[in-house]
Amino acid sequence: RSMSRRRFLKNLSLAGAGLAINPLKSAAQPFNLGPSIKDNPLVISTWIHGMEANQGAWSILESGGDSLDAVQKGVAVTENDLNNRSVGLGGRPDRDGHVTLDACIMDHDSRCGSVAFLEDIIHPIDVARAVMEKTPHVMLVGEGAQKWALENGFSKATFDVPVPPVQKDYEEWLIKSEYKTGVNVENHDTIGMLALDASGRMAGACTTSGMAYKIRGRVGDSPIIGAGLFMDGDVGGATATGVGEAMIRTAGCASVVESMRRGASPEEACYDIVQRILKKHPGVNGMQVGFLAMNMQGEYGGYSVYNGFNYALRTKDRNEMVDAKYMRTWE
Ligand code: ASP
Repeated sequence: RSMSRRRFLKNLSLAGAGLAINPLKSAAQPFNLGPSIKDNPLVISTWIHGMEANQGAWSILESGGDSLDAVQKGVAVTENDLNNRSVGLGGRPDRDGHVTLDACIMDHDSRCGSVAFLEDIIHPIDVARAVMEKTPHVMLVGEGAQKWALENGFSKATFDVPVPPVQKDYEEWLIKSEYKTGVNVENHDTIGMLALDASGRMAGACTTSGMAYKIRGRVGDSPIIGAGLFMDGDVGGATATGVGEAMIRTAGCASVVESMRRGASPEEACYDIVQRILKKHPGVNGMQVGFLAMNMQGEYGGYSVYNGFNYALRTKDRNEMVDAKYMRTWE
């Protein structure tokens, strides 16, 4: 307690000093410089596709690059993979046969950008960052998001979307049109990524094609700041995967960050929100949600409802999958 209070006071005074120098830019950065940082740079990201994505991020982090560039480049690797069925244009469509993409990006200064219900653009994460940097807004959706992207240097994909094997699955699915919101080990989902760079700057990114065969227009947690991704330079960040409605109902990632602010470790904070989500959904079985969190000291952790949720970790010395802890096992 006294430690975290000291840290709190230190942060407060540094924030004050930073504001005095430049009132337009938060002074979050200097909080993180110093001996308390353990093993940065480091990056973590959801599911097995995180291994390759981390590699993309690492190429920036290892040479001292910015965490924001790192997470953008990292998750773009997954968006670019047309064999991935839950991220990017290789993803599964909505019930009407359209692939609609959601993504957001955020940094330790609370700068953020987001796109939702976006079609035919290969890298929604790049559009999200452009929304953050080039507009006074945080979030653009649907037709308007696409129009803005096309006017700002992005172009439409020139291949068929859904990609042919996905179109074939979709046509088979149409026969029964059976909608399951289940998320399990076989349909690894969203990529959410958190990175802390060598200078102690943190950023996060999250991108997805959302739940397969969702109602047209449905948007999940992934592009919602506070639900699928959240970050505060005084504390740390969190990202999520799984049934997005649960994260929206509980402001999931914002809650994780707030728990860490009050002294919880990243893993503990993820545990808390998973507990709360279960409490809010009594009697619901088979609903998987998984959270990842990292604090500004470079400690990280994850927690999920069911077993099977794992994340990729990359540091100087480690490049591996880590199993998150969980509350329940699949029957
Ligand atoms: N969270 C995503 C959504 O609800 C999907 C997922 O991660 O499985 O759209």
